[in-house]
Amino acid sequence: MRVANLGSVVPERRTKIVATLGPSSDSPEQIRALVAAGMDAARLNLSHGTHDDHGRRARRVREIEAEVGRPIALIADLQGPKLRIGALEEPVVLARGTKVTICAEEFATDGELPIAPAVIGDVLEAGHDVLIDDGLVRLRVEGVERGRALCTVVIGGRITSHKGVNLPGVPLPIPSLTRKDIADLEFALQLGVDYVALSFVRSAADVRDLRALIEQAGAHARVISKIEKSEAVEVLDDILTETDAVMVARGDLGVEIGPALVPLLQKRIILKALERGKPVITATQMLETMIHSAEPTRAEASDVANAILDGTSALMLSGETAMGEYPVEAVAYMDRIARAIEPSMGYRHEIPEAGQNPTIGGAMSNAACDIAEALRAAAILVPTFTGRTASAVARLRPRRPIVALTHKDWAMRQLALEWGVTPILIEECPDIEQLWSASISAAREAGFLEAGDRVVITAGTAVNIPGSTNVIKVDIA
Ligand code: ATP
Ligand code: MG
Ligand code: MG
Repeated sequence: MRVANLGSVVPERRTKIVATLGPSSDSPEQIRALVAAGMDAARLNLSHGTHDDHGRRARRVREIEAEVGRPIALIADLQGPKLRIGALEEPVVLARGTKVTICAEEFATDGELPIAPAVIGDVLEAGHDVLIDDGLVRLRVEGVERGRALCTVVIGGRITSHKGVNLPGVPLPIPSLTRKDIADLEFALQLGVDYVALSFVRSAADVRDLRALIEQAGAHARVISKIEKSEAVEVLDDILTETDAVMVARGDLGVEIGPALVPLLQKRIILKALERGKPVITATQMLETMIHSAEPTRAEASDVANAILDGTSALMLSGETAMGEYPVEAVAYMDRIARAIEPSMGYRHEIPEAGQNPTIGGAMSNAACDIAEALRAAAILVPTFTGRTASAVARLRPRRPIVALTHKDWAMRQLALEWGVTPILIEECPDIEQLWSASISAAREAGFLEAGDRVVITAGTAVNIPGSTNVIKVDIA
């Protein structure tokens, strides 16, 4: 597609779309349709389904990726220290005002609500709130006896297997990486996932622990920290320093701190991630009603639009694509909303001195974007080893297309999640002259440039050394 010299019109979608795969997005045809509708990253939620299910879906994503020639990032989402309803033979409907007993899954008898893992009897006390399924069902603990908690149903509803359970304000004696997470991680890394999302991050140390395991396995996967606990909000800066990306995990965040505080926190988390040039995903209930309806509500369309205007790198769909009736339509709607909103977004011009720790990469990306805007360049070409230079450029949200050129397939796939970046794989180049010409030819081949177009290219004089970007070149394609 021709994208050059269109003034302020941005023809390609810049905000990326993450779709959770599940029973509604399992067949090759369904996954192919999601990709065609605009899915940039596929999320495997390891809280649900079997390794077989996830492995099959991951392989299908890779096949379709090869078929269409566009990188798709794979995200493995670890369950983390979350309490969940156990396996239910059939849904349980709880009516307001009635009583129900909850207990550890292994001891639950007929009529009791099973919860895993088994810590529930140790931590619950009379007066505690038990929130189920992102707070849709609410119980109040009346008393605890021999590991069983008798509760009153405060808000009733229908409960299905493995729904999340939150105990706001009650510290859980469970490590951030449970035994299940470690087994799931090993499996996910074998699948070759590009990102691992860590649920219920409580500290920067949690992020370091996960990264250590990924490095031990010799994998390149990056860490996404899911911000969904008040502990994480308190140490957000430390977590952001340590992590590669963050997710505004609004479901559990809303349960933990109350929905009223989520909108402002969303803006704060996005802005902080943007300032550091780290991808940020906004997640949960974005098009919730599309689980059962072909049209979103106006409130949902506004929510998607506002996350884009806040500057989110990516938008995420959960139940809509995992188990909804309109998975492809949900992706298509996000795509449509993004295209309608993005042309009104301003370039985030940021003076280099404004940062607390000015870096060469930061200043170079600022200048590259300024030059590209001033010249109305057809594209900003960013040769990058790890992808970080492309993220540094993307953090300014320039209106010119960003084309990232890398010789590492893992960096290319990771960049599928980065705002406004089209990642392209090129050959490894021995020197900067060849890197420049290879970048221009690749961008021309991909349709970003035509002969005579102006283009801005960044690069490092020491090629193939991460973090060495120190030259900006203006060229004519
Ligand atoms: P999380 O807190 O990690 O987001 P969740 O339970 O909210 O967990 P989502 O990924 O947000 O799960 O998806 C929403 C719903 O979609 C889930 O509660 C579940 O019912 C369904 N779902 C998601 N993935 C799968 C899957 N692989 N298999 C079956 N159902 C799934
Ligand atoms: Mg969650
Ligand atoms: Mg969820």
